Amino acid sequence: MHNRITTAEQLAKVVPLPDKEQAEIEQCLRRFRMAITPYYASLIDPNQPDSPIRKQAVPSIRELQVDPCDQTDPLCEDRYSPENGLVHRYPDRVLFLLTHQCSMYCRHCTRRRMVGCEDFSLGADDLDKAFGYIERHQEVRDVLLSGGDPFVLSDEWLEKVIQRLRSIPHVEIIRIGTRTPVVLPMRITDHLLSMLKKYQPIWINTHFNHPDEITPDSARACEKIVDAGIPLGNQSVLLRGVNDRRDTLIRLFTGLVQIRVRPYYLYQCDLSSGIGHFRTPVAEGIEMMKQIRGYISGFAVPEFVIDLPGGGGKTPASMDYIVHMDNRETVMKNFEGKQYRYPDPLR
Ligand SMILES: *Cc1c(COP(=O)(O)O)cnc(C)c1O
Ligand code: SF4
Repeated sequence: MHNRITTAEQLAKVVPLPDKEQAEIEQCLRRFRMAITPYYASLIDPNQPDSPIRKQAVPSIRELQVDPCDQTDPLCEDRYSPENGLVHRYPDRVLFLLTHQCSMYCRHCTRRRMVGCEDFSLGADDLDKAFGYIERHQEVRDVLLSGGDPFVLSDEWLEKVIQRLRSIPHVEIIRIGTRTPVVLPMRITDHLLSMLKKYQPIWINTHFNHPDEITPDSARACEKIVDAGIPLGNQSVLLRGVNDRRDTLIRLFTGLVQIRVRPYYLYQCDLSSGIGHFRTPVAEGIEMMKQIRGYISGFAVPEFVIDLPGGGGKTPASMDYIVHMDNRETVMKNFEGKQYRYPDPLR
């Protein structure tokens, strides 16, 4: 964390940076922050200016371009926030944003409106109000700790939060969303895991977007999490020029299951401001997923979802496999496009 690359000058020392690009990055940094961990920077191939790793970490001047459809808060998280740091959009679960800080700032971040703007973590007062809200809302059985990245916080601080949540009887599961295994794998320490293990059931979702991010270090971090008895899923974002090809996605998904990570969601890139250059047409994503389901192990296939702008929530974007349906049978197309019938039970 101390040695992160945060200026264009530092970046120029580790990757070849033409003067023009350095100036553009400096311009971009006046608006959005950059932070690249030395580990993630080491994955950037200096000879490949367009590498998928580099595109996720190094700012582009295109971030300053605002498209007509861009929104500051496309998921309307602020509208669904009953207390500072809490988002309650779905009936039985809340999102608990503990910090705005991350070890690396992804260029495509959904929460770029707040992430990286300030090093903010919830104070004692806000925490008390959030815990109070969860305590009063007995329907909340799943609390998702996210941010920012909760694993930038100390083990001790995190333990206090998790302990407090565990003391609430109706909170059945605690989930953590973190990119740490991908961008700062050494953060996944034995100390962290032995702390988490005390508060099972805990589920973790991480965020790999490209097979080149699966390295011996990130693989070890994931295996340690799974060995601690914590199920580990992955949420990817479909990003133009990074992973928007069928063979890249197949290498990503099959690579993940080899390190025991279950692909959970593939997100359509959302409408956050300044990330238009990462978006792909929805039809392309649907078509790619159609060419993936059935061709690789079922549990390697994530659900392709759009977190609908306006606060609509995560919604599967899939081609209809159903051709026809009546009160006797359902006619369906399989992954090869051939038709099959499934008769309904006789009544
Ligand atoms: C994504 C999200 C969740 C978790 O949704 P799942 O589909 O259960 O993974 C919960 N709350 C908010 C506000 C979210 O954006
Ligand atoms: S780790 Fe997540 S919250 Fe942090 S910058 Fe990346 S996408 Fe945003």
